[in-house]
Amino acid sequence: MRTEKIDLKNLDPSELESLIASFGKERYRSIQILRWLYQRGVRSFDEMTNLSKKFRQALEQVSFISALHPLLTEESSDGTKKFLFQLEDGNRIESVLIPDKKRLTLCLSTQVGCAMGCRFCLTGKKGLKRNLATAEIVNQILAVRETLPDKTSITNIVLMGMGEPLANYENTLKAIELMTHPEAFKFSSRRVTLSTVGLLPELEQLAREKARFRLAISLNASDEETRSRLMPINRRHPLKRILEVCRNFPLQPRARITFEYVLLQGENDSLEGAKRLLKMLKGIPSKVNLIPLNEASGIPFEKPSEERVRQFQGILMEGGLTAIVRASKGADISAACGQLQGKAPD
Ligand code: SAH
Ligand code: SF4
Repeated sequence: MRTEKIDLKNLDPSELESLIASFGKERYRSIQILRWLYQRGVRSFDEMTNLSKKFRQALEQVSFISALHPLLTEESSDGTKKFLFQLEDGNRIESVLIPDKKRLTLCLSTQVGCAMGCRFCLTGKKGLKRNLATAEIVNQILAVRETLPDKTSITNIVLMGMGEPLANYENTLKAIELMTHPEAFKFSSRRVTLSTVGLLPELEQLAREKARFRLAISLNASDEETRSRLMPINRRHPLKRILEVCRNFPLQPRARITFEYVLLQGENDSLEGAKRLLKMLKGIPSKVNLIPLNEASGIPFEKPSEERVRQFQGILMEGGLTAIVRASKGADISAACGQLQGKAPD
């Protein structure tokens, strides 16, 4: 039965190698399979023409190749595209493709829903349904890539869609390994960014394992009380301790941690708060992404005025921090940060 078989895309490169070794085959066979799956994007064993028919049949006895197909694609007036996928069990997730000058960034989901319950985020409103499997994470890349015209390629991956990636640690890290593996997707580790609220044990584990991707932390406040109010997870994983881990994080030369800060009028946009933020980040190689709230019905906040956003940014920049105001893309199709719910338009 299909369900008892192994989904090959749930295996990281070393697990695939072990599976292939169990057939008495050499290591390079697993490399050939990685290339078929992730560089060529094949959907069937028959297409793996450099493997013997007998070996392909043996593989098919124990494993299968999964795929995702967009149920719906919407395009924003700014060129951003949102893809809705239906999973095998009927759950739905979304991925967002964001063109920006020479870059083409794909934003991936790592969970169906999210358990963190941040009060400004629609994904968080419905709670967590389940984690995505590694295959479901990487299949988002393959499915979107198939829709692109020739010679167009995805240049950057951000794990900033639905879900908290570090709450699905193992599957997400396996997926990142496939993204950056030289025989699989071949993305440079500088072009893969994981965004997290900063779950402490997982963040510490990443520090020990020397994460091979860029790290972004969703800060969203400069004091414990405000952060706990906006992000209930802060009670268990407080700001102060997250910043301690960041301070000691083993970064690549010249790398920086991105701190994301969603600006909410009257909540976390005071200029004293900006000064506090500046102080807090001293000594951490960092840059700040300021994201004026993407408003939505059901979210009890508003974004600050443009003037306030500029003032907030000005304080950080005068203090020597790189602070960028992130233009909100795809808001007209609910594809912007915090707007993904995994449902078709009403
Ligand atoms: N769960 C992870 C990654 C997904 S959320 C995280 O929270 O980091 C990705 C980013 O969108 C986070 O930085 C989050 O703070 C931001 N975000 C959530 N809701 C938003 C909204 N309504 N407007 C603007 N940004 C939002
Ligand atoms: Fe989850 Fe991130 Fe939304 Fe918070 S902002 S609810 S962590 S997806």
